[in-house]
Amino acid sequence: GDDVKADMIDEMARKHWPLCMRHLHDSLRKDRHLKHYGRLQYGLFLKVVGLSVEEAIIFWRKAFGGTMTDDKFNKEYKYNIRHSYGLEGKRMNYPAPTCQKIITQNQPGVTECHGCPYRHFSTDRLQTALLSAYSGQGLTTGDLPEIISAVKSEHFHVACTKVFEVTHGIPRGQGLDGESVTHPNQYAAKSRELEK
Ligand code: SF4
Repeated sequence: GDDVKADMIDEMARKHWPLCMRHLHDSLRKDRHLKHYGRLQYGLFLKVVGLSVEEAIIFWRKAFGGTMTDDKFNKEYKYNIRHSYGLEGKRMNYPAPTCQKIITQNQPGVTECHGCPYRHFSTDRLQTALLSAYSGQGLTTGDLPEIISAVKSEHFHVACTKVFEVTHGIPRGQGLDGESVTHPNQYAAKSRELEK
């Protein structure tokens, strides 16, 4: 169904990605690289968003840019991209991980960008990240206490749902058609749907 192209991802990230994916996207743009689990988390998310394997190869090749040769990219990265699309190895159709998995598995180390910022960032870092990602979509410092309070009660998906409401002009408590955020792709899909 979705005809998503590599060069559409910057704008989609700005408008529609939850904070975990915004962080991965912005880190990829800043560092021209992501470590293994970051590439896996972001790559599977982009697959479900609708990026074809051909477009995914274009997206990642351009993202790494001059940091590596075509030869290195083809040998070390292209296979893994094709693998995550089920085109190599055991040909598994790998699903994109749910929030539950992202929150509880493979805790990120200090130099890694995967995971859930609501779970894995310090309060200060989270507040800065929220304002930097979403002030253009109407999130202000006044919204932070409520979000941080949900985080402190370890209701990370509730915090993420509140951010979705604030940034999409949805009355508080209404969520995504009455649901809270359980999957990054659900967040992005609902955001794109609301734009139509
Ligand atoms: Fe991503 Fe889920 Fe965390 Fe939101 S709650 S930032 S969608 S992992």
